[in-house]
Amino acid sequence: MPIKCRYCDGYRFENNDLWHYLFDDDPLCMNCRKSLMLKKRKIKVKDMTVESFYVYEDNFRSMILQYKEAHDEALKDVFFHPFKDWLYLKYHGYIMTYVPSSPSKLSQRGFDHIAESIKEIRLEKRCLFEKRKDRSQSAKGDHRLMEDNFRLKENIRKEDKILIVDDILTSGASMYGCYKLIKDKCRKVKCLTLAYSKYYLDNK
Ligand SMILES: [Zn+2]
Repeated sequence: MPIKCRYCDGYRFENNDLWHYLFDDDPLCMNCRKSLMLKKRKIKVKDMTVESFYVYEDNFRSMILQYKEAHDEALKDVFFHPFKDWLYLKYHGYIMTYVPSSPSKLSQRGFDHIAESIKEIRLEKRCLFEKRKDRSQSAKGDHRLMEDNFRLKENIRKEDKILIVDDILTSGASMYGCYKLIKDKCRKVKCLTLAYSKYYLDNK
């Protein structure tokens, strides 16, 4: 594990603390990790419950934009890192899948940011969904259009348990679009995002 923080490039450990050096494998330094507002909560969107970790505020936003839009692939592991073992234990036996990016975003970035960020998690992974087309900014306000913009591209079995992940929960329309494609087709569906919009802090 490199001794520099993947985000700020500062040293990950203060005072050359040997204990941390040996046992702390967080790719972020303590300052960067603490700068993210961790407030785990469960959010209801219609009949879907989404578990989420961070508040989507300025620090989280800068870090994820640095990864997604500035194509800083060194950051791919930092978001799920603190939860990877917990996720493995909690969702053992689940197939992990994700809300896909649009085809134009994928070709712009050259990588699928969510698929890359979950690689460290030791669960079976499949890419089950496909985004039909790019929606213009104006269509983004139309939740129904966003919901219906996904297609199930692989068969799933009745006995499957599936965990859908995404980076940020805003309206929940994209996540719900994927969720409703499979909710009656398999045994269990769970939903999880890294961060959630500040809106949910005030509106439970
Ligand atoms: Zn740092």
